[in-house]
Amino acid sequence: MSDCLFCKIITGDIPADIVYQDDKILVFKDINPKADVHLLMIPKAHIKSLTELNTSYNDLIAYMMLKLPELANDQGLSGGFRTIINTGSEGGQEVFHLHIHLLGGKNLPGF
Ligand code: AMP
Ligand code: ZN
Repeated sequence: MSDCLFCKIITGDIPADIVYQDDKILVFKDINPKADVHLLMIPKAHIKSLTELNTSYNDLIAYMMLKLPELANDQGLSGGFRTIINTGSEGGQEVFHLHIHLLGGKNLPGF
């Protein structure tokens, strides 16, 4: 999607602080962190939100879920972490490319 901010990060047209990537996903630091550690995990495929998923994405979604604790561990979050997926404008989604927030650290705000 040519007008998608996160697709532009995937292509390198917009810079980001990338912490991990492979053929399926990209993980980078949130530009406006809400905690000591605040990463965003996105699929490299342009998927707008959770509502666009179907069973053809089963393997990708499982892959992303299994990668989260690995990333949290790499970030030193041995005491735990929080994951958030905002969906739709009323769900607080601002960027319409599916992303999972990974937050952690001592200053994690209450939910
Ligand atoms: P959401 O509200 O769930 O759609 O989250 C979008 C997130 O993207 C917010 O936490 C923003 O701070 C973050 N964000 C927006 N632009 C950038 C950017 N250029 N690089 C990194 N994170 C960004
Ligand atoms: Zn996109």
